[in-house]
Order: sequence, then C-alpha cells, then structure tokens
Amino acid sequence: MVAASAPAMPEREALAWAHSARFLTTASKLDQLPVTELPEIAFVGRSNAGKSTAINTLAQQRRLAFASKTPGRTQHINLFALGPKDAPDALFADLPGYGYAAVERAAKLRWQQVMADYLEVRRSLSGVVLLVDSRLGLTDLDQRLLAFIAPRVRTGEVRLLVLLTKADKLSRKEANAALRTAGEALGELATDDADIGVALFSALKKTGVGDVARTLREWVRSAQAPRPPATDVAAEAATVPTT
Ligand code: GDP
Repeated sequence: MVAASAPAMPEREALAWAHSARFLTTASKLDQLPVTELPEIAFVGRSNAGKSTAINTLAQQRRLAFASKTPGRTQHINLFALGPKDAPDALFADLPGYGYAAVERAAKLRWQQVMADYLEVRRSLSGVVLLVDSRLGLTDLDQRLLAFIAPRVRTGEVRLLVLLTKADKLSRKEANAALRTAGEALGELATDDADIGVALFSALKKTGVGDVARTLREWVRSAQAPRPPATDVAAEAATVPTT
C-alpha cells in the first residue's frame, strides 16, 4: 500500500519533478518508440477512468495529456520526459484508454495487441499506474490488462500502482470498501518480490497527489540504481532488441 511504503522523499521535490513533464513523442507502433535506458512509467486504464486528468494533476499542468484526446491521436502511445531539460531521468507513457464502445472491433483487437506487446516486452518499463474508476472497481478489461503484466509484476521487475480515481464521489465507508476490494483482487499478483500499491485519488480534491508523485519518483530512483551484473540481464537485452 502506498501509505505503508511511501518513501522518505520530500513531497515538494517529488511534485517539482512531476511538474517537469513535457511532451516527447508519439507512436502508433511499438517500433516507433525510442529505444531508451530511461525508466518508463506507463499510465493505463479504461477510457473515462480519469487517466488524462490524473496525469495533468500529477504534472500540475492543464493540458499535458490532452494529446491523447485529440482525434487521430487517441490510439497512440504518448511519451513525456521528466527531469532536467538537458538530462531527462524518466519517461511517462500515456497508453490509449481501452473499452471505449465506439471503437470498431478490428481496431480494438489491434490495439489490444499493441498494448499487450508494450507491457510484455518494453524493456525500460519500470512501473505501471492503472487508473480505475473508484465507483466501478477493477473490471474484466482491467483484469485482462493486468494479466499482460502479471509475470513482470510478480518478479518485481515492473512495479504496480492502482489508483482508484474520482474518490471525491465516494463516502469514507465506500472508499474503504473500494480499497479493500481492489486490494483483494490484486492479492493474486502478490509475491515477496512484487511491489503493488492501491490508493485513492481525486484530481478534484487533490487526494493522493503528493503520495503518488513521491512513489513514482522513488520508483525511478530505485530503477536508476546500478543493477547487479547478471547474465540474465544480458540475455534479456539480446532477445528484445527493438524496444
Ligand atoms: P480518461 O478518458 O481516462 O483520460 O478520463 P478523463 O481524465 O478525461 O476523465 C473522465 C471524466 O471524469 C471527465 O469528465 C473528468 O472531468 C472526470 N474526472 C476525472 N477525474 C476526476 C476526479 O478526480 N473527480 C471527479 N469528480 N471527476 C473526475
């Protein structure tokens, strides 16, 4: 849980870091994404879950994640760079929202595959933030998405934070129930190595914003720590050359 594992980092510093987010590039295919060593944090969720609002709120910018709503851009992966201008230290990846009824079936299937591939093989992926409407909880589509990253979450290679959005719409009792239900649903991903959190989030009331910034900043920090030399790492790099 975020509260328990919240790192000892000043909130102000973490928010300043989040505020540095700026648009980097957009890609409609995986091989258009830049190959990078920068730790990447992906934002995923059903359309209308509050993903764009959450990214903008975290970055304290009004229209940062607006591109993903622009017609023709809704099915792109949008990348944002964070950290010093001349030396970015992390990327945010805004993945297309899923579950939008009006999208035609073939396009849905194509996109499901791109998302699955991204989540499974993007080597620099350090963490996933899954946005879930707190009133709906984890839906079947969310569970399907989690299945794509489950293997990497279980080993601890990819961290996971589930944000229950629009928490301002819930009473305290409902909020606690939502946290408990989501926590139970995520239980099957838990292992000794996994880093999984669930938190309430409200862009309207700014609930959770500082804690989320601190958590993501800490993910990036620990991803930057030198990895122990292991033959596995070299083997992995050799088998996934394009992402
Ligand atoms: P996306 O499709 O996941 O990017 O969702 P949006 O960020 O566009 O949000 C979908 C709708 O939920 C919009 O009408 C937002 O104004 C609303 N919304 C997003 N976050 C919050 C929140 O924290 N509280 C409330 N009450 N509404 C929110």
